[in-house]
Amino acid sequence: MSSFDLVVVGAGPGGYVCAIRAAQLGLKTALIDKRHALGGTCLNVGCIPSKALLESSEVFENARLHAAEHGVKLADVALDLETMLARKNGIVKELTDGVGMLMKKNKVTVLQGRGTLTGPGKVTVTGDSGDTEVEAKHICLAMGSEPVQLPFLPFDGELVVSSTEALDFAKVPKKMVVIGAGAVGLELGSVWRRLGADVTVIEMLPTITPFADKQMAKTLQRALAGQGLEFRLSSKVTAGKVLKKSVKLTVEDDKGESEEVSCDKVLVAVGRRPYSDGAGLDSVGLEVDAQGRVVVDDDLRTNVDGIWAIGDLVRGPMLAHKAEDEGMAVAESIAGGAGHVNYDAIPNVVYTEPELAMVGRTDAELKEAGIAFNAGRFQFRANGRAKSLGQQDGMVKILADKETDRVLGVHMVGPRVSELIAEAVVTMEYGGSAEDLARSCHAHPTLSE
Ligand code: FAD
Repeated sequence: MSSFDLVVVGAGPGGYVCAIRAAQLGLKTALIDKRHALGGTCLNVGCIPSKALLESSEVFENARLHAAEHGVKLADVALDLETMLARKNGIVKELTDGVGMLMKKNKVTVLQGRGTLTGPGKVTVTGDSGDTEVEAKHICLAMGSEPVQLPFLPFDGELVVSSTEALDFAKVPKKMVVIGAGAVGLELGSVWRRLGADVTVIEMLPTITPFADKQMAKTLQRALAGQGLEFRLSSKVTAGKVLKKSVKLTVEDDKGESEEVSCDKVLVAVGRRPYSDGAGLDSVGLEVDAQGRVVVDDDLRTNVDGIWAIGDLVRGPMLAHKAEDEGMAVAESIAGGAGHVNYDAIPNVVYTEPELAMVGRTDAELKEAGIAFNAGRFQFRANGRAKSLGQQDGMVKILADKETDRVLGVHMVGPRVSELIAEAVVTMEYGGSAEDLARSCHAHPTLSE
Protein backbone atom coordinates (compact mmCIF):
# COMPACT_ATOMS: atom_id res chain seq x y z
CA MET A 1 0.00 0.00 0.00
CA SER A 2 1.37 3.46 -0.91
CA SER A 3 1.67 5.93 1.93
CA PHE A 4 1.47 9.69 1.70
CA ASP A 5 1.70 12.68 4.02
CA LEU A 6 -1.41 14.08 2.35
CA VAL A 7 -4.09 12.57 0.13
CA VAL A 8 -6.46 15.07 -1.50
CA VAL A 9 -9.83 13.76 -2.73
CA GLY A 10 -11.13 15.91 -5.60
CA ALA A 11 -9.02 17.76 -8.17
CA GLY A 12 -11.03 20.98 -8.49
CA PRO A 13 -9.49 24.39 -7.74
CA GLY A 14 -9.58 23.59 -4.03
CA GLY A 15 -7.99 20.16 -4.32
CA TYR A 16 -5.36 20.75 -6.98
CA VAL A 17 -4.13 23.98 -5.39
CA CYS A 18 -3.93 22.21 -2.01
CA ALA A 19 -1.93 19.37 -3.58
CA ILE A 20 0.55 21.69 -5.33
CA ARG A 21 1.12 23.82 -2.24
CA ALA A 22 1.58 20.72 -0.06
CA ALA A 23 4.14 19.27 -2.47
CA GLN A 24 5.96 22.59 -2.61
CA LEU A 25 6.17 22.52 1.17
CA GLY A 26 7.81 19.10 1.07
CA LEU A 27 4.82 16.83 1.77
CA LYS A 28 4.51 13.56 -0.14
CA THR A 29 1.14 14.15 -1.80
CA ALA A 30 -1.46 12.28 -3.87
CA LEU A 31 -4.45 13.77 -5.69
CA ILE A 32 -7.50 11.64 -6.51
CA ASP A 33 -10.30 12.45 -8.96
CA LYS A 34 -12.98 10.30 -10.53
CA ARG A 35 -12.87 12.48 -13.66
CA HIS A 36 -10.19 11.76 -16.23
CA ALA A 37 -9.47 15.47 -16.66
CA LEU A 38 -8.20 17.44 -13.69
CA GLY A 39 -9.56 20.86 -12.70
CA GLY A 40 -12.96 19.87 -11.26
CA THR A 41 -16.22 21.64 -11.98
CA CYS A 42 -14.45 24.95 -12.47
CA LEU A 43 -12.21 24.01 -15.39
CA ASN A 44 -14.37 21.30 -16.97
CA VAL A 45 -17.98 22.49 -16.70
CA GLY A 46 -17.98 25.74 -14.73
CA CYS A 47 -15.97 28.95 -14.59
CA ILE A 48 -13.82 28.44 -17.67
CA PRO A 49 -16.21 27.10 -20.34
CA SER A 50 -18.86 29.61 -19.27
CA LYS A 51 -16.42 32.49 -19.59
CA ALA A 52 -15.23 31.24 -22.98
CA LEU A 53 -18.84 31.24 -24.24
CA LEU A 54 -19.56 34.62 -22.67
CA GLU A 55 -16.59 36.07 -24.54
CA SER A 56 -17.52 34.47 -27.88
CA SER A 57 -21.17 35.42 -27.64
CA GLU A 58 -20.17 39.00 -26.83
CA VAL A 59 -17.99 39.12 -29.93
CA PHE A 60 -21.03 37.95 -31.93
CA GLU A 61 -23.32 40.52 -30.33
CA ASN A 62 -20.80 43.34 -30.82
CA ALA A 63 -20.32 42.41 -34.47
CA ARG A 64 -24.07 42.27 -35.02
CA LEU A 65 -25.19 45.28 -33.01
CA HIS A 66 -22.33 47.55 -32.03
CA ALA A 67 -19.62 47.51 -34.71
CA ALA A 68 -21.67 49.93 -36.85
CA GLU A 69 -21.69 52.51 -33.99
CA HIS A 70 -17.90 52.62 -34.36
CA GLY A 71 -18.19 53.13 -38.10
CA VAL A 72 -17.31 49.53 -38.83
CA LYS A 73 -19.66 47.99 -41.33
CA LEU A 74 -19.88 44.23 -41.33
CA ALA A 75 -21.96 42.36 -43.82
CA ASP A 76 -23.42 38.90 -43.28
CA VAL A 77 -22.53 38.39 -39.62
CA ALA A 78 -23.37 34.76 -38.98
CA LEU A 79 -23.07 32.35 -36.11
CA ASP A 80 -20.89 29.26 -36.40
CA LEU A 81 -21.89 27.55 -33.15
CA GLU A 82 -19.78 24.48 -33.83
CA THR A 83 -16.60 26.56 -33.99
CA MET A 84 -17.64 28.53 -30.90
CA LEU A 85 -18.12 25.33 -28.89
CA ALA A 86 -14.89 23.85 -30.25
CA ARG A 87 -12.98 26.97 -29.16
CA LYS A 88 -14.47 26.62 -25.68
CA ASN A 89 -13.55 22.92 -25.55
CA GLY A 90 -10.02 23.75 -26.70
CA ILE A 91 -9.55 26.25 -23.88
CA VAL A 92 -10.85 23.71 -21.34
CA LYS A 93 -8.48 21.03 -22.67
CA GLU A 94 -5.43 23.29 -22.57
CA LEU A 95 -6.15 24.27 -18.98
CA THR A 96 -7.00 20.80 -17.68
CA ASP A 97 -3.87 19.40 -19.39
CA GLY A 98 -1.96 22.27 -17.80
CA VAL A 99 -3.07 21.13 -14.33
CA GLY A 100 -1.81 17.64 -15.20
CA MET A 101 1.56 19.14 -16.10
CA LEU A 102 1.67 21.09 -12.85
CA MET A 103 1.13 17.85 -10.94
CA LYS A 104 4.07 16.23 -12.73
CA LYS A 105 6.26 19.28 -12.18
CA ASN A 106 5.46 19.34 -8.47
CA LYS A 107 5.75 15.54 -8.12
CA VAL A 108 2.15 15.02 -6.99
CA THR A 109 0.92 11.45 -7.57
CA VAL A 110 -2.35 11.56 -9.53
CA LEU A 111 -4.76 8.65 -9.04
CA GLN A 112 -7.82 8.38 -11.29
CA GLY A 113 -10.91 6.98 -9.61
CA ARG A 114 -13.49 7.53 -6.93
CA GLY A 115 -11.93 7.99 -3.52
CA THR A 116 -13.72 6.35 -0.61
CA LEU A 117 -12.72 6.71 3.01
CA THR A 118 -12.42 3.23 4.46
CA GLY A 119 -11.05 4.00 7.90
CA PRO A 120 -8.83 6.50 9.70
CA GLY A 121 -6.07 7.50 7.28
CA LYS A 122 -7.22 5.06 4.60
CA VAL A 123 -8.69 5.76 1.15
CA THR A 124 -9.68 3.25 -1.52
CA VAL A 125 -9.47 4.52 -5.08
CA THR A 126 -11.82 2.79 -7.49
CA GLY A 127 -10.74 3.64 -11.00
CA ASP A 128 -10.64 2.24 -14.52
CA SER A 129 -7.83 -0.09 -13.49
CA GLY A 130 -9.53 -1.48 -10.38
CA ASP A 131 -9.10 -0.71 -6.69
CA THR A 132 -6.00 0.80 -5.08
CA GLU A 133 -5.62 1.43 -1.36
CA VAL A 134 -3.64 4.38 -0.11
CA GLU A 135 -2.65 5.42 3.38
CA ALA A 136 -2.30 9.01 4.52
CA LYS A 137 -1.29 10.97 7.60
CA HIS A 138 -3.67 13.70 6.45
CA ILE A 139 -6.66 13.65 4.09
CA CYS A 140 -8.17 16.75 2.52
CA LEU A 141 -11.72 16.34 1.18
CA ALA A 142 -12.40 18.59 -1.82
CA MET A 143 -15.24 16.81 -3.62
CA GLY A 144 -17.05 20.00 -4.60
CA SER A 145 -20.72 20.26 -5.43
CA GLU A 146 -23.45 19.28 -7.88
CA PRO A 147 -26.44 21.18 -9.33
CA VAL A 148 -29.66 21.11 -7.32
CA GLN A 149 -32.68 19.60 -9.11
CA LEU A 150 -36.30 20.64 -8.70
CA PRO A 151 -38.17 17.60 -7.33
CA PHE A 152 -41.03 18.02 -9.84
CA LEU A 153 -38.72 18.71 -12.78
CA PRO A 154 -35.72 16.36 -12.70
CA PHE A 155 -32.87 16.89 -15.15
CA ASP A 156 -33.21 14.85 -18.33
CA GLY A 157 -30.12 16.32 -20.00
CA GLU A 158 -32.14 17.24 -23.09
CA LEU A 159 -35.04 19.56 -22.34
CA VAL A 160 -34.55 20.08 -18.62
CA VAL A 161 -30.88 20.78 -18.12
CA SER A 162 -28.24 21.88 -15.63
CA SER A 163 -25.41 24.29 -16.42
CA THR A 164 -23.32 21.37 -17.69
CA GLU A 165 -25.59 20.71 -20.69
CA ALA A 166 -26.28 24.44 -21.17
CA LEU A 167 -22.58 24.82 -22.05
CA ASP A 168 -23.05 22.49 -25.00
CA PHE A 169 -26.38 22.97 -26.81
CA ALA A 170 -25.88 21.77 -30.37
CA LYS A 171 -28.24 24.48 -31.62
CA VAL A 172 -29.57 27.74 -30.27
CA PRO A 173 -32.88 27.18 -28.46
CA LYS A 174 -35.83 29.20 -29.74
CA LYS A 175 -37.34 29.78 -26.34
CA MET A 176 -35.34 29.14 -23.19
CA VAL A 177 -36.42 29.51 -19.59
CA VAL A 178 -33.82 29.95 -16.90
CA ILE A 179 -35.00 29.18 -13.38
CA GLY A 180 -32.86 31.15 -10.94
CA ALA A 181 -31.33 34.62 -11.34
CA GLY A 182 -27.97 33.93 -9.72
CA ALA A 183 -24.59 34.11 -11.46
CA VAL A 184 -24.94 30.84 -13.40
CA GLY A 185 -28.49 31.59 -14.64
CA LEU A 186 -27.68 35.14 -15.71
CA GLU A 187 -24.40 34.21 -17.40
CA LEU A 188 -25.74 31.29 -19.40
CA GLY A 189 -29.03 33.10 -20.05
CA SER A 190 -26.97 35.97 -21.51
CA VAL A 191 -24.92 33.61 -23.68
CA TRP A 192 -27.96 32.03 -25.36
CA ARG A 193 -29.85 35.33 -25.65
CA ARG A 194 -26.86 36.87 -27.44
CA LEU A 195 -26.79 33.88 -29.77
CA GLY A 196 -30.46 34.34 -30.66
CA ALA A 197 -32.65 32.60 -28.07
CA ASP A 198 -35.67 34.25 -26.54
CA VAL A 199 -34.74 33.95 -22.83
CA THR A 200 -36.97 34.38 -19.76
CA VAL A 201 -35.42 34.31 -16.30
CA ILE A 202 -37.77 33.27 -13.51
CA GLU A 203 -36.74 34.09 -9.95
CA MET A 204 -38.60 33.39 -6.73
CA LEU A 205 -37.12 36.41 -4.90
CA PRO A 206 -37.95 40.03 -5.73
CA THR A 207 -34.42 40.82 -6.99
CA ILE A 208 -31.83 39.17 -9.19
CA THR A 209 -28.41 38.26 -7.66
CA PRO A 210 -29.90 38.17 -4.15
CA PHE A 211 -26.41 38.14 -2.57
CA ALA A 212 -25.56 41.54 -4.07
CA ASP A 213 -26.15 45.15 -3.05
CA LYS A 214 -29.77 45.99 -3.97
CA GLN A 215 -28.85 49.08 -6.00
CA MET A 216 -26.31 47.08 -8.02
CA ALA A 217 -28.78 44.26 -8.58
CA LYS A 218 -31.36 46.74 -9.90
CA THR A 219 -28.79 48.45 -12.14
CA LEU A 220 -27.71 45.11 -13.59
CA GLN A 221 -31.29 43.96 -14.11
CA ARG A 222 -32.17 47.17 -15.96
CA ALA A 223 -29.16 46.75 -18.24
CA LEU A 224 -29.86 43.06 -18.97
CA ALA A 225 -33.57 43.74 -19.55
CA GLY A 226 -32.56 46.47 -22.00
CA GLN A 227 -30.59 43.84 -23.93
CA GLY A 228 -33.68 41.64 -24.19
CA LEU A 229 -33.55 39.24 -21.23
CA GLU A 230 -37.07 38.95 -19.85
CA PHE A 231 -37.38 38.78 -16.06
CA ARG A 232 -40.16 37.38 -13.93
CA LEU A 233 -39.27 38.15 -10.35
CA SER A 234 -41.20 37.15 -7.22
CA SER A 235 -42.37 34.22 -9.33
CA LYS A 236 -42.12 30.54 -8.64
CA VAL A 237 -42.14 27.60 -11.02
CA THR A 238 -44.52 25.21 -9.28
CA ALA A 239 -44.92 22.45 -11.86
CA GLY A 240 -43.44 21.26 -15.13
CA LYS A 241 -44.60 18.92 -17.83
CA VAL A 242 -42.03 17.51 -20.23
CA LEU A 243 -43.53 16.94 -23.68
CA LYS A 244 -41.87 15.47 -26.76
CA LYS A 245 -39.98 18.59 -27.81
CA SER A 246 -40.95 21.18 -25.26
CA VAL A 247 -41.61 21.81 -21.60
CA LYS A 248 -44.70 23.43 -20.12
CA LEU A 249 -44.05 25.22 -16.85
CA THR A 250 -46.57 26.54 -14.37
CA VAL A 251 -45.39 29.86 -13.01
CA GLU A 252 -47.03 31.40 -9.95
CA ASP A 253 -46.49 35.05 -9.01
CA ASP A 254 -46.53 36.56 -5.53
CA LYS A 255 -50.25 37.38 -5.85
CA GLY A 256 -50.98 33.70 -6.30
CA GLU A 257 -51.84 34.04 -9.99
CA SER A 258 -50.47 31.30 -12.18
CA GLU A 259 -49.65 31.10 -15.86
CA GLU A 260 -48.29 28.45 -18.22
CA VAL A 261 -45.02 29.12 -19.99
CA SER A 262 -43.79 26.87 -22.81
CA CYS A 263 -40.19 26.59 -23.93
CA ASP A 264 -37.85 24.22 -25.73
CA LYS A 265 -35.12 24.28 -23.02
CA VAL A 266 -35.26 24.84 -19.27
CA LEU A 267 -32.04 25.60 -17.48
CA VAL A 268 -32.51 24.89 -13.78
CA ALA A 269 -29.99 27.13 -12.04
CA VAL A 270 -31.34 27.24 -8.50
CA GLY A 271 -28.05 26.50 -6.79
CA ARG A 272 -25.59 23.74 -6.04
CA ARG A 273 -25.28 21.30 -3.19
CA PRO A 274 -22.18 19.76 -1.62
CA TYR A 275 -21.26 16.45 -3.22
CA SER A 276 -20.04 13.51 -1.16
CA ASP A 277 -21.78 10.49 -2.76
CA GLY A 278 -19.81 7.29 -2.27
CA ALA A 279 -17.01 9.03 -0.39
CA GLY A 280 -17.52 6.95 2.76
CA LEU A 281 -17.95 9.88 5.17
CA ASP A 282 -19.92 7.63 7.55
CA SER A 283 -17.15 5.05 7.79
CA VAL A 284 -15.01 7.50 9.78
CA GLY A 285 -17.87 9.33 11.54
CA LEU A 286 -17.53 12.68 9.77
CA GLU A 287 -19.99 15.33 10.86
CA VAL A 288 -22.21 16.73 8.09
CA ASP A 289 -24.74 19.57 8.52
CA ALA A 290 -28.38 19.72 7.36
CA GLN A 291 -27.32 21.09 3.94
CA GLY A 292 -24.91 18.21 3.39
CA ARG A 293 -21.81 20.31 4.07
CA VAL A 294 -18.90 18.71 5.88
CA VAL A 295 -18.59 20.62 9.15
CA VAL A 296 -15.22 22.31 9.66
CA ASP A 297 -13.72 24.68 12.21
CA ASP A 298 -12.03 28.00 11.41
CA ASP A 299 -8.89 26.10 10.33
CA LEU A 300 -10.86 23.75 8.02
CA ARG A 301 -10.37 20.75 10.30
CA THR A 302 -13.28 18.30 10.46
CA ASN A 303 -14.36 16.51 13.64
CA VAL A 304 -12.05 13.60 12.70
CA ASP A 305 -8.37 14.00 13.48
CA GLY A 306 -6.24 14.30 10.33
CA ILE A 307 -9.19 14.94 7.99
CA TRP A 308 -9.67 18.43 6.53
CA ALA A 309 -12.32 19.72 4.12
CA ILE A 310 -12.45 22.69 1.74
CA GLY A 311 -14.25 24.39 -1.14
CA ASP A 312 -17.87 23.85 -2.17
CA LEU A 313 -18.05 20.90 0.23
CA VAL A 314 -17.93 23.21 3.28
CA ARG A 315 -19.64 26.41 4.49
CA GLY A 316 -19.11 29.73 2.70
CA PRO A 317 -19.60 30.97 -0.85
CA MET A 318 -19.31 28.37 -3.62
CA LEU A 319 -16.51 30.07 -5.53
CA ALA A 320 -13.36 28.72 -7.13
CA HIS A 321 -10.99 31.28 -5.58
CA LYS A 322 -12.47 30.65 -2.11
CA ALA A 323 -11.77 26.92 -2.63
CA GLU A 324 -8.20 27.73 -3.78
CA ASP A 325 -7.48 29.91 -0.75
CA GLU A 326 -8.78 27.19 1.54
CA GLY A 327 -6.63 24.61 -0.26
CA MET A 328 -3.53 26.74 0.33
CA ALA A 329 -4.46 27.29 3.98
CA VAL A 330 -4.87 23.55 4.64
CA ALA A 331 -1.55 22.66 2.98
CA GLU A 332 0.22 25.36 4.97
CA SER A 333 -1.40 24.31 8.26
CA ILE A 334 -0.40 20.66 7.70
CA ALA A 335 3.16 21.71 6.90
CA GLY A 336 3.35 23.56 10.21
CA GLY A 337 2.59 27.06 8.95
CA ALA A 338 -0.28 29.39 9.75
CA GLY A 339 -2.85 28.73 7.04
CA HIS A 340 -5.44 31.46 6.96
CA VAL A 341 -8.34 32.62 4.76
CA ASN A 342 -9.66 36.17 5.05
CA TYR A 343 -13.36 35.56 4.38
CA ASP A 344 -14.05 39.32 4.58
CA ALA A 345 -12.11 39.92 1.37
CA ILE A 346 -13.43 37.30 -1.06
CA PRO A 347 -14.73 38.91 -4.24
CA ASN A 348 -17.86 37.72 -6.01
CA VAL A 349 -18.41 38.37 -9.72
CA VAL A 350 -21.18 37.90 -12.28
CA TYR A 351 -19.65 37.94 -15.76
CA THR A 352 -22.57 39.37 -17.71
CA GLU A 353 -22.24 42.62 -19.71
CA PRO A 354 -22.18 44.84 -17.71
CA GLU A 355 -20.47 42.74 -15.06
CA LEU A 356 -21.29 42.81 -11.36
CA ALA A 357 -18.50 42.58 -8.82
CA MET A 358 -18.47 42.96 -5.08
CA VAL A 359 -16.30 42.43 -2.05
CA GLY A 360 -17.03 42.91 1.64
CA ARG A 361 -20.30 43.95 3.15
CA THR A 362 -23.38 45.60 1.61
CA ASP A 363 -25.00 48.66 3.16
CA ALA A 364 -27.88 46.48 4.35
CA GLU A 365 -25.43 44.21 6.18
CA LEU A 366 -23.57 47.16 7.72
CA LYS A 367 -26.86 48.72 8.88
CA GLU A 368 -27.92 45.44 10.40
CA ALA A 369 -24.59 45.17 12.23
CA GLY A 370 -25.02 48.76 13.52
CA ILE A 371 -21.82 49.98 11.84
CA ALA A 372 -21.84 53.64 10.81
CA PHE A 373 -20.42 54.17 7.32
CA ASN A 374 -19.96 56.64 4.49
CA ALA A 375 -20.95 55.71 0.96
CA GLY A 376 -19.31 57.15 -2.16
CA ARG A 377 -20.87 56.53 -5.57
CA PHE A 378 -19.74 57.17 -9.13
CA GLN A 379 -21.52 56.45 -12.39
CA PHE A 380 -19.60 54.98 -15.35
CA ARG A 381 -21.63 57.35 -17.56
CA ALA A 382 -19.25 60.13 -16.37
CA ASN A 383 -16.06 58.12 -17.02
CA GLY A 384 -14.20 58.91 -20.25
CA ARG A 385 -12.87 55.39 -20.78
CA ALA A 386 -16.32 53.83 -20.32
CA LYS A 387 -17.68 56.27 -22.89
CA SER A 388 -14.91 55.35 -25.35
CA LEU A 389 -15.69 51.68 -24.84
CA GLY A 390 -19.36 52.40 -25.45
CA GLN A 391 -20.15 50.65 -22.15
CA GLN A 392 -21.55 53.27 -19.85
CA ASP A 393 -24.08 51.27 -17.87
CA GLY A 394 -23.30 50.92 -14.20
CA MET A 395 -21.71 52.47 -11.18
CA VAL A 396 -19.27 51.94 -8.32
CA LYS A 397 -20.14 52.27 -4.65
CA ILE A 398 -17.51 52.34 -1.91
CA LEU A 399 -18.54 51.87 1.71
CA ALA A 400 -16.10 53.01 4.39
CA ASP A 401 -16.26 53.10 8.17
CA LYS A 402 -17.54 56.53 9.26
CA GLU A 403 -14.95 56.91 11.96
CA THR A 404 -11.81 55.20 10.63
CA ASP A 405 -12.48 55.47 6.86
CA ARG A 406 -11.46 51.81 6.51
CA VAL A 407 -13.01 50.25 3.38
CA LEU A 408 -15.72 47.78 4.39
CA GLY A 409 -17.34 46.97 1.05
CA VAL A 410 -17.05 47.79 -2.64
CA HIS A 411 -19.87 47.15 -5.11
CA MET A 412 -19.71 47.61 -8.85
CA VAL A 413 -21.71 47.12 -11.99
CA GLY A 414 -19.98 48.09 -15.20
CA PRO A 415 -17.49 47.17 -17.90
CA ARG A 416 -14.77 44.72 -16.81
CA VAL A 417 -15.42 45.32 -13.11
CA SER A 418 -14.27 41.71 -12.59
CA GLU A 419 -10.78 43.18 -12.99
CA LEU A 420 -11.42 46.43 -11.09
CA ILE A 421 -12.59 44.60 -7.98
CA ALA A 422 -9.03 43.31 -7.40
CA GLU A 423 -7.97 46.81 -6.36
CA ALA A 424 -10.70 46.86 -3.73
CA VAL A 425 -9.68 43.40 -2.50
CA VAL A 426 -6.05 44.46 -2.09
CA THR A 427 -7.09 47.65 -0.28
CA MET A 428 -9.24 45.63 2.12
CA GLU A 429 -6.58 42.98 2.61
CA TYR A 430 -4.16 45.70 3.73
CA GLY A 431 -6.82 47.36 5.89
CA GLY A 432 -6.72 50.43 3.64
CA SER A 433 -8.98 53.46 3.79
CA ALA A 434 -11.14 55.12 1.15
CA GLU A 435 -8.67 58.00 1.20
CA ASP A 436 -5.77 55.57 0.49
CA LEU A 437 -7.65 54.47 -2.62
CA ALA A 438 -8.50 58.02 -3.67
CA ARG A 439 -4.93 59.28 -3.23
CA SER A 440 -3.35 56.42 -5.20
CA CYS A 441 -2.60 57.77 -8.66
CA HIS A 442 -4.68 56.08 -11.35
CA ALA A 443 -3.83 56.31 -15.03
CA HIS A 444 -6.14 58.49 -17.08
CA PRO A 445 -8.33 57.64 -18.86
CA THR A 446 -9.09 54.28 -17.25
CA LEU A 447 -12.07 52.58 -15.70
CA SER A 448 -10.04 52.29 -12.48
CA GLU A 449 -9.79 56.04 -11.94
P1 FAD B 1 -15.02 21.10 -7.73
O1 FAD B 1 -14.47 22.07 -8.68
O2 FAD B 1 -16.46 20.77 -7.84
O3 FAD B 1 -14.15 19.78 -7.86
C1 FAD B 1 -14.47 18.64 -7.16
C2 FAD B 1 -13.87 17.44 -7.85
O4 FAD B 1 -13.99 16.32 -7.00
C3 FAD B 1 -14.57 17.05 -9.15
O5 FAD B 1 -13.63 17.00 -10.20
C4 FAD B 1 -15.15 15.67 -8.88
O6 FAD B 1 -15.06 14.81 -10.00
C5 FAD B 1 -14.25 15.16 -7.77
N1 FAD B 1 -14.86 14.17 -6.88
C6 FAD B 1 -16.04 14.25 -6.22
N2 FAD B 1 -16.19 13.16 -5.44
C7 FAD B 1 -15.08 12.41 -5.60
C8 FAD B 1 -14.65 11.18 -5.03
N3 FAD B 1 -15.34 10.54 -4.09
N4 FAD B 1 -13.47 10.70 -5.46
C9 FAD B 1 -12.73 11.33 -6.39
N5 FAD B 1 -13.10 12.50 -6.93
C10 FAD B 1 -14.25 13.03 -6.52
N6 FAD B 1 -16.79 30.06 -9.44
C11 FAD B 1 -16.05 31.17 -9.54
O7 FAD B 1 -15.33 31.50 -8.60
N7 FAD B 1 -16.05 31.93 -10.68
C12 FAD B 1 -16.83 31.62 -11.74
O8 FAD B 1 -16.83 32.31 -12.76
C13 FAD B 1 -17.63 30.46 -11.66
N8 FAD B 1 -18.40 30.09 -12.70
C14 FAD B 1 -19.13 28.95 -12.62
C15 FAD B 1 -19.91 28.59 -13.70
C16 FAD B 1 -20.66 27.44 -13.66
C17 FAD B 1 -21.51 27.06 -14.86
C18 FAD B 1 -20.60 26.60 -12.51
C19 FAD B 1 -21.38 25.32 -12.46
C20 FAD B 1 -19.83 26.95 -11.43
C21 FAD B 1 -19.09 28.13 -11.47
N9 FAD B 1 -18.30 28.53 -10.39
C22 FAD B 1 -17.58 29.69 -10.47
C23 FAD B 1 -18.22 27.74 -9.13
C24 FAD B 1 -16.95 26.92 -9.10
O9 FAD B 1 -16.90 26.07 -10.23
C25 FAD B 1 -16.87 26.10 -7.82
O10 FAD B 1 -17.02 26.97 -6.71
C26 FAD B 1 -15.52 25.40 -7.71
O11 FAD B 1 -15.30 24.55 -8.80
C27 FAD B 1 -15.44 24.60 -6.41
O12 FAD B 1 -14.20 23.99 -6.34
P2 FAD B 1 -13.95 22.69 -5.50
O13 FAD B 1 -12.50 22.41 -5.61
O14 FAD B 1 -14.55 22.83 -4.15
O15 FAD B 1 -14.81 21.54 -6.22
